[in-house]
Amino acid sequence: MVETIHHLILHVVFILFTILLYQMFSDEKENDPNRVNTGFLLMNIVILIFTMGFPVIYSSGYVYDFKVIPIIIAFLYGGIRVGFLTFLAMLLVSFFTDHVFVKLFGNYAVFCLLLVPISKLYRRYDSRGKLLTISLFYLAIPFTRTIYLIYENELEQIPFMISSTIIIWITLVLIVYLIENRMEQIRIKKELLKAEKLNVVSQLAASVAHEIRNPMTTVRGFMQLLQGEVLSNEQKTFISISIKELDRAQEVINQYLSLAKPQTEEFEVFSLTEVINDSVEVMSTYAVMSSIKIKKNVAENLSIQGLKVEMQQVLINLLKNAIEAIKENGEIMVKALENKHGQIIITVKDNGGGMPKEQLKLLGRPYYSTKEKGTGLGLTVCYQIVKRMKGEIKVESKENQGTTFTIKLPIPNVNPR
Ligand code: ADP
Ligand code: MG
Repeated sequence: MVETIHHLILHVVFILFTILLYQMFSDEKENDPNRVNTGFLLMNIVILIFTMGFPVIYSSGYVYDFKVIPIIIAFLYGGIRVGFLTFLAMLLVSFFTDHVFVKLFGNYAVFCLLLVPISKLYRRYDSRGKLLTISLFYLAIPFTRTIYLIYENELEQIPFMISSTIIIWITLVLIVYLIENRMEQIRIKKELLKAEKLNVVSQLAASVAHEIRNPMTTVRGFMQLLQGEVLSNEQKTFISISIKELDRAQEVINQYLSLAKPQTEEFEVFSLTEVINDSVEVMSTYAVMSSIKIKKNVAENLSIQGLKVEMQQVLINLLKNAIEAIKENGEIMVKALENKHGQIIITVKDNGGGMPKEQLKLLGRPYYSTKEKGTGLGLTVCYQIVKRMKGEIKVESKENQGTTFTIKLPIPNVNPR
């Protein structure tokens, strides 16, 4: 018994070694189930030849080997085609080794057919799900075999079968770990490359955006001058549309720049109460145009640490969204207070259209917008700014009832000057 276990462990070492070798020399692309990965197929065949060529033979002619491992791995990680090719290779190898072809073919054909649907589901699971699937699937084999042995009254085989089952199962777990780990590594590397590229692109875009801003300001100025000239009504409409569109472009650029710009300015302690009052003031004209009232309930002398302009931008973005959500006739409530846990809580509540649950998850994602002329950057900027200030934003929303944005910010530990 001990000797056969030694023999089995030799197989384990060989199999793991082959997989490691394959991983070292294969190129780093992710497994594509729709293409036959020859290297992977070859690896499985090498394992098959070894494990079938040097099987562990136990007393009365029972042969135990590891051929189930390459078959399972081939189906689950190489796809159905690699799986069946490995199966064919196994049948071929069986001619040159001590195997009963018919029995082998019958057993493994059923086995492979069972693996087909599993291999399709398998890719969707996380690593824990994968381990569980592989384990359950594999353990079904010794289970049926035990029943067979009991039926045939060959009970002396059972302890050996259990020990080989455990060893094969451990090997399978190790292999899954190796392959999954490797796939994860490849994925992370890819993502890193992508992030690096994006970084360069966003830096370039920021400088371009900056350069565009200046000529636009000039154009806008001249347009405004033109508006004062004697022109036909039609021409005046054209000019005012042009100015509006320029403003919109300006807004997109400004929001983009504040998103891409690395923050170098130093944080300072400033009065939040003032900033809220100013922001509400700025937005109230916009609100009045759609008959919306902005109400305020702001505690005196609240101060926070951060950048004043940024806080203003957060409030203006939230108020603008609230106004746009209400469309016409509604009310916005802005509150700010210090709670008993020493935090500052700001809420912006509207009674506008609200959002369904699925939409809440998407908020803050760059360029996510449901508006025809939206930039989808407003909330992204808000989330980034609040995060930098070590605060958090929460959203509650009910469709057709309204939305509440809550910002939690820490109180600065230095007193305002
Ligand atoms: P934009 O306003 O340019 O569309 P934002 O990032 O500011 O981009 O907002 C993203 C989306 O979130 C909006 O298009 C809108 O669908 C939704 N949203 C944001 N604030 C509210 C709100 N107060 N009520 C309802 N929907 C909102
Ligand atoms: Mg917005």
